Amino acid sequence: MATRVIVVTGGVLSGLGKGIIAASLGNRLQARGYSVFTQKFDPYLNVDAGTLNPGEHGECFVTVDGAETDLDLGHYERFLDVELTRDSSIMSGQIYQAVIEKERRGEYLGKTVQVIPHITNEVKARIDQTCRHTKADFLIIEIGGTVGDIEGRHFLEAVRQYAIEHPRRVSVVHLAYLPYLHTSKEIKTKPVQNSLRDLQSLGIQPQLVFCRADYPVATEHLEKIAMFAGLPKKAVIPIPTLDTIYEVPLLLEEALADKLLLKYFGLRSPHEPKSLWTDLVKRIKGPKKRSVRIAMVGKYLSMNDTYFSVVEALKAACWAHNCDLVLDFVDAEKITDSGTRVLAKYDGICVPGGFGSRGVEGMIKAIEYARSKKIPYLGLCYGMQLAVIEFARNVLKLNGAHSTEINKKSPHTVISTMAEQEEILKDSHYGGSMRLGAYPCEIAKGSLAYRIYKQPLIHERHRHRYEFNNKYREQFEKTGKWHFSGISPDGKLIEIVELNEHPYFIACQFHPEFASRPHRPHPLFLGLIEAALRH
Ligand code: GLN
Repeated sequence: MATRVIVVTGGVLSGLGKGIIAASLGNRLQARGYSVFTQKFDPYLNVDAGTLNPGEHGECFVTVDGAETDLDLGHYERFLDVELTRDSSIMSGQIYQAVIEKERRGEYLGKTVQVIPHITNEVKARIDQTCRHTKADFLIIEIGGTVGDIEGRHFLEAVRQYAIEHPRRVSVVHLAYLPYLHTSKEIKTKPVQNSLRDLQSLGIQPQLVFCRADYPVATEHLEKIAMFAGLPKKAVIPIPTLDTIYEVPLLLEEALADKLLLKYFGLRSPHEPKSLWTDLVKRIKGPKKRSVRIAMVGKYLSMNDTYFSVVEALKAACWAHNCDLVLDFVDAEKITDSGTRVLAKYDGICVPGGFGSRGVEGMIKAIEYARSKKIPYLGLCYGMQLAVIEFARNVLKLNGAHSTEINKKSPHTVISTMAEQEEILKDSHYGGSMRLGAYPCEIAKGSLAYRIYKQPLIHERHRHRYEFNNKYREQFEKTGKWHFSGISPDGKLIEIVELNEHPYFIACQFHPEFASRPHRPHPLFLGLIEAALRH
């Protein structure tokens, strides 16, 4: 069947969870037997999310094919259990760049280049391209920001045109915020009405309206909004604040949102078998007998969004072990200043990915603490590089050991780029640029990594510039305490390291968190939680 397109827009304010609504709709369509792919249109003029500050924008999610994207793609992968690609992340900068490059090549034959039709045509071409590449039954497109933003206009105009060109193949759903006034103790529908009017003034009529509200919404409010939207009442669906985001698909199911959409498209709603999701939510909300305390040591204070996928992977591992997660973000700079005492109450420590020098010495102290006190430790990317530096300094006594990212003049650059290592590995092609996307890794039999993964070859996603410096391999191995248990098939790149005499000390150069799923947690996180429970 021709791919149907569902566009999710937002109103009143951003940060309402459009990504969760888009992903949950997809989840419902999957449950009814349809295949789903997703795409996010971001209005920023950036070309990709790689250069956006994660403290401000949340984590940079990496796809298997190496695109650096918005954290919403993580929701899609977790809710839909699909692997997305470069096609899934479109930023305005990319669209403008493509148009300007065409203009420079003279492809517009001397015509005036304009937002309409050139930018909008480029947007429509991306929709077509994604439909062609994926052949999915449904393509769900989330448009970042809110309706009415100047920056997002070209996307909405492209959607308007696309819907006219493809009758009954495009549906728009709108998510807006219903505020509550404390003084008069009432829900106000005006902002939602205004955002619907904005959408309609752009020539777009939504088929469903979701109303995000922190307080109970009465039928009369829904009726009022339905009247303004020109929709039946059942097409206006309240979205209350729930215990877990994984409950949203169940809420949409109850409201028959998927059925309404399928009806609009003239498609059947096959009866579905009981979904995995119901069991997952039961498990998440069910009582737990035990809990684990995990410290995540990093430099960002608003760490929930910054490390979203890591947090979700930790949670998923706890659900699988049927225990509660007590997760604290520990500011690495505090450890630099006042030592590791704050870490005493934790059953496990995680140092996630990161860049730059801020907080690094505190993270290294935390790793030393985990190593010497035998606290379960999981290091992710930077967390592996810093574990190497800690071992070099404190066990191998290589004073001043560091990464060339922080100190190019260090006497022992145990972490450096492949280009910097070239004197030993002349034909390396990794130097200079970021290693992005999935790469293979062979796992040594008999290692902790092998016990965790239970397979000899894995593929994991990367996003980093620096690598273990191979010049130091022998020195680490000779101690008998250190194991390079995961190495690239060509033998050049260290991917996993672990300590031999430790209950659980393992660190990887890649980002396993991106591959973790709520009902299929990543084995490295499962291992950490299991070890933390034993601790
Ligand atoms: N800053 C390190 C590098 O570029 C690690 C990056 C990361 O943790 N994602 O290699």
